[in-house]
Amino acid sequence: MSENKKSEKIAGVKGMNDILPADAPLWELFENTVQTVLKSYGYQQIRTPIVEPTAVFARGLGQVTDIVEKEMYSFTDSMNGDQLTLRPESTAGVVRAVLEHNLTYDGPKRLWYAGPMFRHERPQRGRYRQFHQIGAEAIGFTGPDIDAELIMLCQRLWDDLGLDNIRLELNSIGNADERSRHRADLVAYFEQHKELLDGDAQRRLHSNPLRILDTKNPAMQEMVNGAPKLLDYLEDESLGHFEGVQKILRHNNIPFTINPRLVRGMDYYNRTVFEWVTDQLGSQGTVCGGGRYDPLVEMFGGKPTPACGFAMGVERLLELMKASGEQFAPNQCDVYLVHQGDAAQMQASVIAERLRDAGLDVVLHCASAGSGGGWKSQMKKADASGAAYAVILGEDEMASGAATVKAMRSLEGENNQAAVVFAEIPDYLVDQIVGNDDHDHSEHIHYHH
Ligand code: ATP
Ligand code: MG
Repeated sequence: MSENKKSEKIAGVKGMNDILPADAPLWELFENTVQTVLKSYGYQQIRTPIVEPTAVFARGLGQVTDIVEKEMYSFTDSMNGDQLTLRPESTAGVVRAVLEHNLTYDGPKRLWYAGPMFRHERPQRGRYRQFHQIGAEAIGFTGPDIDAELIMLCQRLWDDLGLDNIRLELNSIGNADERSRHRADLVAYFEQHKELLDGDAQRRLHSNPLRILDTKNPAMQEMVNGAPKLLDYLEDESLGHFEGVQKILRHNNIPFTINPRLVRGMDYYNRTVFEWVTDQLGSQGTVCGGGRYDPLVEMFGGKPTPACGFAMGVERLLELMKASGEQFAPNQCDVYLVHQGDAAQMQASVIAERLRDAGLDVVLHCASAGSGGGWKSQMKKADASGAAYAVILGEDEMASGAATVKAMRSLEGENNQAAVVFAEIPDYLVDQIVGNDDHDHSEHIHYHH
C-alpha cells in the first residue's frame, strides 16, 4: 500500500447524510416509539422498493407539483431503457403495491412504511436530498373517523416523544367540483392582481392556481390573504365530513387551528388536509403532513377506493427532539472483556459467548492497528465503551480459574472488584445487572424526562 500513490478521498453525495453512531440511539428510540404507536392502532408495515417506474410518480403526484417538475432523481435503466425514479415519497408506491397485490380484497387496510426518500432540492437545515419519512396509509375507509384516527395517532406520538411544541393545522380542500368553482374565481382574482405575482405564481396561474396560496414569498402574502377561500365553496357533503373530523378531535381534546390557506403539495389530495407545524425549526417547520386522497387509487386504474394518510419527516423531528434539551444516553454495553496472553484470549472468547447466551451485551477486546493491547489501553477502551462491568483475564486469573470482575460505575470507596470462577460469571453478572434497580437490562437506551 505505502508504495502506491495516496488516493484522493471520495466525499458522499451533497445533501445525502451519513447517520453516525453517535446519533444511532436517538434514531433507534424514535423508530421504536413510532412503531409501538403504529402497532397500538393496528397498522401493518409494508416495504416497497426505493426505485419505481417514473410513471408511478408522474401519474400519482400530478405533473405540476414541485416534486415532479424539478425534484425527482429520474434515470433510464441502461439495460432495458425503462424510465425509473428514486422514490420522492411513498404514497404512490404503496398504492401501486396495494393494487398489484389486491391487498384490499378482504376489506380496508391500515398500512405504514418507513425509509429514505429522494428529492433534488437545495440542501439546507431540515431539507436534504436523501431524507427519511415514516408514514401511514389507511386504504378503503370512507368516514371522518379514520382521518381523526390518523391525526390522534400523531398526537400520541408527539406526547410519547415528549414533544409539546407541535401544533395542528387543519383544512378541507373539498372535492374536484368545489375546487373547480373556487378555481375559476381564484384565477380571476389573481388576474386582477397580476402585477404582484412572482414567476412561480405566473407559471401556476392557469396550471395549478391553488398552489399559489401556498407561496412563501412575503411580497405576495397580503394579496394572497384576500383571495377567495376554498372553504367558502364547500357543499354539504364535504362540510359534513370536515365537521365530522373536527367533532372527534374536539371530543378527544386535540387542539387544532383551521388554516383556510393550507393546501398540500400533491395533486391527489381531497377533503381533509393537515400539517403538524413547529416554530422551533426556522422555515422548515412542517414536521408531518397528510390528508385524504380519495381519487388516487382510481388514477392508478383501481376501482374507486377512499384513502387517507400522512408522512412525517424524521430528520426534522429528531432535530426537534435534540432542541428540546432531553439527554440521550450514549451507546452502552453491559460487559467489556479485557485479556492478556494467548490462553486468556481463548478463554475470553468463550466467556463472551456464554455472557451473550445469558442475554448480556458484550464487547470482547480485539486486536487493532496502532493501539497497544496493554492493560492500560484495554481498560481505557472498557471505560469508553460505557460498560457497566469489565471482566479481566490475565495470567493470574488463568492460573486460578477465576476472572476479576470489576464494576466500572461504582461509587468511590465502594468495593468494586470480585474474583469469580469462570463458569459462574454469567449468573454472577446477570444478578448484578438485572438485580440492580437503576439499570433496566432489557432496554439500553434511556430517555430522560
Ligand atoms: P416542504 O413544503 O417543506 O417542501 P413538502 O410539502 O414537500 O414539504 P411532504 O411531501 O408533505 O413535504 O413530506 C412530508 C414531510 O417530509 C414534510 O412535512 C417534511 O417534514 C419532510 N420533508 C419533505 N421534504 C424534505 C426534505 N427535502 N428534507 C427533509 N425532510 C423533508
Ligand atoms: Mg417540498
